[in-house]
Amino acid sequence: MSVEDIFLELLNQDMENIFKQIVTDYKDRVQENKKNEFTIENLGKIFQIGGIKRIKEKTTEKSKEISTDNRCMARIWGSTPPVAYYCREKQKYIYGERCSRPKKCDKDYCGLHLKNLPHGRFGELPPHEHFEKYLVTEN
Ligand SMILES: [Zn+2]
Repeated sequence: MSVEDIFLELLNQDMENIFKQIVTDYKDRVQENKKNEFTIENLGKIFQIGGIKRIKEKTTEKSKEISTDNRCMARIWGSTPPVAYYCREKQKYIYGERCSRPKKCDKDYCGLHLKNLPHGRFGELPPHEHFEKYLVTEN
């Protein structure tokens, strides 16, 4: 048995435990006509992990990096918890991260963020206050 197989088995065991929990916790909330489908077996069929791939090491080739000018201007949540602090040097709040995808043609945003900009534009204030609770004060 390869390491991948063992890992896969462990993952699927974890998934099954999650399904069990979900079915136990939510079966009462599922519509009557859907109850037959809401089983651990069915969830397993839909979501079971069939294979895993090792993620390739990040390439450091310069040509693949997107220059700052060509990067999407959208703010993304980024990590969890997100980046949120007051930058004294720039004298402004930094919230989240900038999208790392390339801009679309002559637009400011990538394809995804042209359609939807949930966290606003990077460098401007976000359109909501969801970052506030993650704010860390720098010493
Ligand atoms: Zn984007």
